[in-house]
Amino acid sequence: MEVFVKDIAKVLENIAPTEYAESYDNVGLIVGSFCKKVRNVLVTLDISEEVLYESIKKKCDLIISFHPIIFKSIKSITGKTFSEKVIIHALKNNISIYVIHTNLDVVWEGTSSYISKLLRINREKVLFPKRETIKKLITYVPVNYADIVRNALFEAGAGNISNYSHCSYNFDGFGSYMGNKKTKPFIGKKEIIHMEKETCISVIFPDYKLNIIKNALLKNHPYEEVAYEIYNLENVNPNVGIGFIGSLMTKMNEYDFLFFIKKRMNLSCIRHSNFIKKEIKKIAMITGSGRFGIETALAEKADVFISSDLKYHDFFKHEKKILIVDIEHYESEKFTKNLLKSLLEKNFFSISIYESEVHTNPIKYFY
Ligand SMILES: [Zn+2]
Repeated sequence: MEVFVKDIAKVLENIAPTEYAESYDNVGLIVGSFCKKVRNVLVTLDISEEVLYESIKKKCDLIISFHPIIFKSIKSITGKTFSEKVIIHALKNNISIYVIHTNLDVVWEGTSSYISKLLRINREKVLFPKRETIKKLITYVPVNYADIVRNALFEAGAGNISNYSHCSYNFDGFGSYMGNKKTKPFIGKKEIIHMEKETCISVIFPDYKLNIIKNALLKNHPYEEVAYEIYNLENVNPNVGIGFIGSLMTKMNEYDFLFFIKKRMNLSCIRHSNFIKKEIKKIAMITGSGRFGIETALAEKADVFISSDLKYHDFFKHEKKILIVDIEHYESEKFTKNLLKSLLEKNFFSISIYESEVHTNPIKYFY
């Protein structure tokens, strides 16, 4: 079966909608064409010229990168910076570049999923649940059509709350209307006031599905003019957000815990705050830059906070209650390649997915 860039984008965006990316981020297809046929894919944490040469060597038509190569808008592409050089080479060699970054960080099956399995942590919840990602739809449907409309909304992705699907609230009442002479009412007659027994259906849905939900409503509602209301909800989305809280199966002392993550993640070095003689069981973790998470990890009564890009003064914030651990940025995210490869291999059988062998960490360690 032929696979195109748009097929791969669709699968990835189903897992990690681009709308979930942070405002500073730049995700989705950033170089190339959705209509390009794909033979092989290269997944990488970062894009460099070496990664691009590797993709040419491995006959990859698409590079999927975790970190974007373009963050801010660029006004010219002349090859004066490394990112411009990469873009020029990619275009010359007909290679598309797709980025999946903070949108992969915030979804339940994303970055945290892989790392928590690797560290044998039973994830309980998101550390920073995302706000303003849920909308509510209320609509009024003739009683005999309520099932059809409700099911169409469920099928389009409405009515999911955590582990529950098909959630809705319904009650019956009477709707009134009178169409003018230009109308063709589905029930009743034009220019005569009509009272119809209707079911009020209310469902929630993720905001990125707004158009799909609206289309499902308008396509399945029998009325010529559909009455509906859509609201933004303040509720947090418990399954979407940065970082996670979870627990180990068995407690470990601080030394054993650091040794355990060093071994499991193949780390050469770990920076950490003073040992506080605490047994480690409850873990708070943010992959990538996460120094903003220390206070929340403390409030959640985690025994350890693991992240990267922590500064000197951050290590003073332990309050003698939490072990603060920095495993470095690249090291905390390096398994994203494995995650992307496994997500793609579950969906595409006729193409090869390669993990980049280029070590793209720009930070070198001198021992
Ligand atoms: Zn990163």
